[in-house]
Amino acid sequence: MIREIVEIGNPALRQIAKSVPEDEIPSKRIQKLVDDLIDTMRYANGAGLAATQIAVPLRVCVVEVKGNPRYPYKPDIPLTVLINPIITFLTDKRITVYEGCLSVPNLRGQVERCPEIKVEGLDRNGESVSFVSKGISAGTFQHELDHLDGLIYTDLIKDPSTLCTLKEFARNYEMKFKEEVISIVEEYGS
Ligand code: ZN
Repeated sequence: MIREIVEIGNPALRQIAKSVPEDEIPSKRIQKLVDDLIDTMRYANGAGLAATQIAVPLRVCVVEVKGNPRYPYKPDIPLTVLINPIITFLTDKRITVYEGCLSVPNLRGQVERCPEIKVEGLDRNGESVSFVSKGISAGTFQHELDHLDGLIYTDLIKDPSTLCTLKEFARNYEMKFKEEVISIVEEYGS
């Protein structure tokens, strides 16, 4: 079911989401939440969606990138469901990237992200998942996990003058950013 995505200003986005008890993962409530997150993310052409974005304060998020029209330069990420995820930074390096968010319509802005992370958590079957994510994709996972801690990418923007509408992004910054993405992908493989 496609759910309403709440937008910046909605207190639901500022809640610290609660862990899902492991024995509740098979429940209809959690399985439906996962299905709804996937449906809503795909419907909105998002690269990811966190439960707090549909006003459910639980530590569940989904990520998927497959020829995304909102982010045509993003490397693909297979559908990933994460329950109670944690991220460990594997390097002190940072990359500067433009991000957008379904909860912040029509805006992009520059944030710094760690380009090498380890993601751990549970999948929708309650099985442990653990993988390393790099480059642009690593930023996508950090963005979604931030939502579970009540953070929005706009909180991380060091230079507010980088905030721009989609129209101005396309007009002024997209071409240069695409080149930067290509070099990040070359360096990190994703
Ligand atoms: Zn977001």
